[in-house]
Amino acid sequence: MKSFAFHRPQSVPDAVALLRGNGSAKLLAGGQSLLPVMKLDLAEPSDLVTLAGIPELRGIRAEGDALVIGALVTHDEVASSAEVRQRLPGLASLAAGIGDAQVRNRGTLGGSLAHADPAADYPAAVLALGATVITERRQIAADDYFTGLFQTALEPDEIITGVSFPVPECSAYAKFAHRASKFAVVGVMVARTAGGVRVAVTGAGGKAFRVPALETALAARFSADAVDAGAVSPDGLQSDGEASAEFRAHLVTVMARRAVQACS
Ligand SMILES: Cc1cc2nc3c(=O)[nH]c(=O)nc-3n(C[C@H](O)[C@H](O)[C@H](O)COP(=O)(O)OP(=O)(O)OC[C@H]3O[C@@H](n4cnc5c(N)ncnc54)[C@H](O)[C@@H]3O)c2cc1C
Repeated sequence: MKSFAFHRPQSVPDAVALLRGNGSAKLLAGGQSLLPVMKLDLAEPSDLVTLAGIPELRGIRAEGDALVIGALVTHDEVASSAEVRQRLPGLASLAAGIGDAQVRNRGTLGGSLAHADPAADYPAAVLALGATVITERRQIAADDYFTGLFQTALEPDEIITGVSFPVPECSAYAKFAHRASKFAVVGVMVARTAGGVRVAVTGAGGKAFRVPALETALAARFSADAVDAGAVSPDGLQSDGEASAEFRAHLVTVMARRAVQACS
């Protein structure tokens, strides 16, 4: 690992000022994605800007019909929050299934969404729940946020401050996990609201995506039996040593059925 300057700003504007005009500065949240990449010399930031000294990025609060979760809230805090468990049980169980205890104790919601790993769990929740990613300068709708493999709509000096999750009638997440890392080989989040059903898949492609045919089938009849009518094609899905595209397409159907069954 190369040497770097370390900064601990006390406010979001100070953190933005440290990033601005310095293309090789990087934010540090839980370090669970960035530090492994730095150890492999795949990232060599000149400056690390930790968010740890900025209290406004922490906390979970109700705002109208939504829960707003701060960018620095850890996966374990999401999983164990009484409010999240009661109002967004699908999100709480998703967070409880991320990695291992160390990853859940250090890794954060904002870090996961900024990193945008195609096999990460939160992207499925953000898309299925129709969440809004809040930064220090704007609000980004879930459907506009993930732009490609490890790519998002964020500007290089933009900081996620939190995510607003509308509370649905029900939500559930089912994952076929990689046996070692627990990343999603395929994960499916289902959310039912008065306005319809949203279904999002992670792990199967270059980025998380919604499944319109499945959403239509489930809006007409919200039942595990209806899932087959929205089966996805393997064309364009990820194929690797863990699972072929055909197996992943099959897993989408199986995980969607489980998520619908758990959605009550
Ligand atoms: C062994 C292992 C297993 C894992 N298993 C899973 C799993 O099963 N499911 C899963 O979803 N993930 C998994 N992860 C990833 C984990 O969830 C990471 O915590 C997460 O992806 C990154 O969050 P972080 O807070 O650690 O971010 P960091 O590593 O600190 O940062 C990641 C990136 O985000 C940027 N960043 C951080 N915070 C912000 C912000 N607020 N605004 C803008 N940019 C920001 C950083 O500059 C960096 O580029 C695993 C990781 C490990 C090491």
